[in-house]
Amino acid sequence: MTLDPAVFDALLDAVRRFVCERLRPLEAQVDREDAVPEHIVEEMRALGLFGLSIPEEYGGVGLSMDEEVRVVLELGRTTPAFRSVFGTNVGIGSQGLVMAGTAAQKSEWLPRIASGEIITSFALTEPGAGSDSAAVQTKAVRHGGNYRISGTKRYITNADKAALFTVMARTGGEGARGVSAFLVPADLAGVSIGAPEKKMGQQGAHVCDVNLDDVAVPAANRLGEEGEGFKVAMRVLDRGRLSIAALCVGIAERLIADAVGYAAERKQFGKAIAEFQLVQAMIADSKTEAMAARALVLEVAAQKDRSENITMEAAAAKYFASEMVGRVADRAVQIFGGAGYIADYGIERLYRDVRLFRLYEGTSQVQQIIIARETMKRGG
Ligand SMILES: Cc1cc2nc3c(=O)[nH]c(=O)nc-3n(C[C@H](O)[C@H](O)[C@H](O)COP(=O)(O)OP(=O)(O)OC[C@H]3O[C@@H](n4cnc5c(N)ncnc54)[C@H](O)[C@@H]3O)c2cc1C
Repeated sequence: MTLDPAVFDALLDAVRRFVCERLRPLEAQVDREDAVPEHIVEEMRALGLFGLSIPEEYGGVGLSMDEEVRVVLELGRTTPAFRSVFGTNVGIGSQGLVMAGTAAQKSEWLPRIASGEIITSFALTEPGAGSDSAAVQTKAVRHGGNYRISGTKRYITNADKAALFTVMARTGGEGARGVSAFLVPADLAGVSIGAPEKKMGQQGAHVCDVNLDDVAVPAANRLGEEGEGFKVAMRVLDRGRLSIAALCVGIAERLIADAVGYAAERKQFGKAIAEFQLVQAMIADSKTEAMAARALVLEVAAQKDRSENITMEAAAAKYFASEMVGRVADRAVQIFGGAGYIADYGIERLYRDVRLFRLYEGTSQVQQIIIARETMKRGG
């Protein structure tokens, strides 16, 4: 669904100002304290950020994919940990429910997800199932009206705050067709959450293990039919990858702006370093790649809004944009010189933050595999 253009412009403007005036001043604090202040989370709720992608009938903003990526491009202009606060509610934590949930499941959960009253997480990865995500070993065995679920999920974003998990578990034989998806409330007996992992970057966004010890989950909490869980998870990830690609573009644009500003100020050999063509080459390469990624993201979002299959396109957007922002962050450090390595300038923090984008929701190698497989399937 598409918003009235004036309403959407007002939202975009509010997000831009929120990023600039409220979030950017707190970046160093969030990195240091590994926590986003509660008053900021409250402001995110008031802005409607938890419900961006959730249909209006369930209390969300109901953005189209094109609108959503344009909001994410703005959110990319600050540390990505802020977006993680509501990122799972907007993306991987809620979209399985939006795509495959029954009317009863949707009306039970979506309004609270959209308002930010509760946090949701997506639990696919396991200690033994990362890139090979169809190899999940978490088991769900039907006993009357319940499934008993046991297993361990690893590196689950926002697990320490989540009230609801979308858990992929094995109900059938080996492989993707044996996997089903379940809505698992965090307060069920047998659910326990590990301590937040210490990470390279994106401090303030937490990942933890989710341990499921013979958890009795009502059969009514299954998302879709038995054996459809992997398909649901992959559709959720198609969408999530496009959103990450948009975030990468936003961060690249921020890094380029910071690098250009610094290059204009910093003087060596009697002139601003921006006057040196070797520095200009780094700016030109970064700008060109960021523009290409932006165009790709917007094109794929338009395809999604036309209900086209975007499995290959979203993988390509995520692959290109995440690799691109890695190169842009590296050049930004270079343009800042020694200051690029010093915490006070903030560039080293973004350099650490962006490394994750080439790893989660499918590594770059996994994206390459998807792109090649889909391209060959379509005959080139
Ligand atoms: C901060 C963070 C947040 C995360 N959030 C979530 C979350 O919310 N929910 C969730 O379910 N998961 C989450 N993950 C997990 C993430 O999606 C996985 O870490 C990722 O998919 C890679 O899996 P792995 O770590 O097991 O790496 P592995 O699969 O072990 O890969 C190791 C290396 O081998 C390569 N490789 C593997 N298979 C192949 C192949 N066939 N061909 C070529 N190369 C290959 C990989 O590309 C990589 O370079 C998160 C991870 C992190 C770090």
